[in-house]
Amino acid sequence: MTMINAYTPGQGNLSQDDEALVQRRAKLLGPAYRLFYETPVHLVRGAGVWLYDTAGNAYLDCYNNVASVGHCHPHVTAATARQSMLFASHTRYLHDTVLDYAERLLATFPADLSHVMFTCTGSEANDLALRIAFAHTGGTGLIVTENAYHGVTFATSAMSPSLGSGVNLGPHIRTIPAPDSHFTTHVQAAITDLQRHGIRPAALIVDTIFSSDGVYADPPGFLTPAAAAIRAAGGLFIADEVQPGFARTGSHFWGFQRHDLIPDLVSLGKPMGNGYPVAGLVMRPEVIEAFGSKARYFNTFGGNAVASATAMAVLDVIATEGLQANAQSTGTYFRDALLALAKTCEILGPLRAAGLFLGQDIVTGGQPDGPKAVRIVNGLRGKRILISATGPQGHTLKIRPPLVFSRANVDRFMEGLDGVLQSI
Ligand code: PMP
Repeated sequence: MTMINAYTPGQGNLSQDDEALVQRRAKLLGPAYRLFYETPVHLVRGAGVWLYDTAGNAYLDCYNNVASVGHCHPHVTAATARQSMLFASHTRYLHDTVLDYAERLLATFPADLSHVMFTCTGSEANDLALRIAFAHTGGTGLIVTENAYHGVTFATSAMSPSLGSGVNLGPHIRTIPAPDSHFTTHVQAAITDLQRHGIRPAALIVDTIFSSDGVYADPPGFLTPAAAAIRAAGGLFIADEVQPGFARTGSHFWGFQRHDLIPDLVSLGKPMGNGYPVAGLVMRPEVIEAFGSKARYFNTFGGNAVASATAMAVLDVIATEGLQANAQSTGTYFRDALLALAKTCEILGPLRAAGLFLGQDIVTGGQPDGPKAVRIVNGLRGKRILISATGPQGHTLKIRPPLVFSRANVDRFMEGLDGVLQSI
């Protein structure tokens, strides 16, 4: 959630029409919104890995993991349209679609995770996860990584340090550094500190690809002892799969599977509806017992018939187009291309990647260089290639294209990157 390259209104490098649009946004939407890039992009259409601006220019999308089966995929949009013309209501009526989808979705999880509840956003899914974890454990203590992002609600923003010091972390939150070889030791120290302050641990929650911390996928298995530590302290392990889920990491359908563990709760979102707002929470049945006995759950839009039909169509496309295998093979091709370029370019530091989720550090003299990463992001935007940067110092290029990305698309990206690197 690093917003290092946001446009400042009046900066002056926009067309008159777009500058007027920026002013109109500020007037209507207020001061809390940010735009990407020094020169914002004004988009009107998307198809596959391409986005198009008002003049019809094509931009190579290497960033949008929401449209993960490709922008406006016809199989998905047809499912949305069909269902919205047939029946478009909620889960308080008997209807097959939400159950058909639940069965299909749960079949992608280990058998122990056998309930799913539906929400509209990843934030809501994490918020619900907290309510369930608090009810199950009787605790409120939460452990997150130092630059985590888990959502916009009151509860989830309070455990999202990447929102910056303007957003308070709750007194029940402990932060730990991005994964290193001492990850479990940090988790254990946070548990001890919570207990020392009389706070019972409720959960360790991590984005299993650590996207806002700078992308940390390896070594596979490093999360397993950390999950064991929180469980030994009476807390739950919550996997936030909003970023890595739905086949992005290539080797697995879910990010936690890379670590060969089974979480207690798993939150889902972003790519689930390829742009339609649908999200959810998958869980072990025993963890929802305490919550379910005391509270009822109804979400007006979560799991509605159109959302379910759309999400089902997304699973169809992932399967029929072999997108998990593509994430793996094209991701490997992408990684190799970056590693090869890094041999001749010392600005390219460590690369961390899994499938089509790549984090490329930008360094000067071996040290993180956030400002240079910003120049690269904006330089690529000038070549109509869209990425962003992430991590606490904003020095990690975040490359996360739709899963239909091809080797030719990688070649185009590399050509653009090479050009930008030579120009700076
Ligand atoms: N968790 C993670 C890891 C995310 O990246 C995000 C969104 N960036 C969320 C939760 C929140 O999802 P949403 O924006 O759908 O509320």
